[in-house]
Amino acid sequence: METIRISMLQSSVDCCRRAASGQFQKLIGDDAGYALTQERTGVYTAMGTGAHAGVQNMLIHKILHGSLNNVQENIDMAIWEYDKSLQETPDVLYDNITGNQDIGRLQIEQFVKHYQNDVAPFLKFPENADPAKHIERHIVLQLKGYKVSGHIDVTPTRSICDTKTGKALRACHTQLGGYANLAVSDGDEKPEQLIVHHLPRVSVGKPYPGTTTLSYPVDFCMNEAWYIINQLIRDVENFKASGNPACFQANPNSMLCNEKYCRAYGTKFCEYH
Ligand code: SF4
Repeated sequence: METIRISMLQSSVDCCRRAASGQFQKLIGDDAGYALTQERTGVYTAMGTGAHAGVQNMLIHKILHGSLNNVQENIDMAIWEYDKSLQETPDVLYDNITGNQDIGRLQIEQFVKHYQNDVAPFLKFPENADPAKHIERHIVLQLKGYKVSGHIDVTPTRSICDTKTGKALRACHTQLGGYANLAVSDGDEKPEQLIVHHLPRVSVGKPYPGTTTLSYPVDFCMNEAWYIINQLIRDVENFKASGNPACFQANPNSMLCNEKYCRAYGTKFCEYH
């Protein structure tokens, strides 16, 4: 059974073929016989994993004890997860903002400190909340023979919040809308707010700009996401029947259309380059 991940919706809007080659590797590679290139992982992926672990630790403490713990505990947790994630990644791509593992540690420390200062004090959870239902909540929806799955970072009262740590923030409407659809399928009322907290990854030594909080229109996002999920299912069904890469619409003008970010680049699965 194929899985549609909510985190792939944003990239599906950008280039659906790239998103498909990242997510449906068995279908495209093993079953249809297209040779995709090796996946390469940027350091930002491990940094995101680390930052999320620190925030998770912080907010679970807040739910269980009604107050925030010492920030150093959350930084330690974040860096431990970051180091572990790097150890498990064979070929990490560093870049001009995070040139090595140590710089990444400093930047993660910045993320966690700012989240604890700028965001965590203002999040509200119901009394006697179950942390598993509000922090890093995993939901799987069965839809038309497919799994639709997602991890919602934080589900405060009547809201859904996502934490981003990329250098720049891309449009997150479909991802937030996808999470809202999953939460409703899991028994929640429709959320009143869809929020992104963006802690940008910036060079060490530059002044940190702080956290940006953005609110997204709920009905619009849910509608967009629902359409794209169903479109992806139709695309996969068409590809299973035909084996034709054109079932997944390509966008060779995408900013991420290059060998670093796309496993289809320069392959028979996408011959634009
Ligand atoms: S090579 Fe470019 S157009 Fe083709 S799938 Fe990758 S990103 Fe899309």
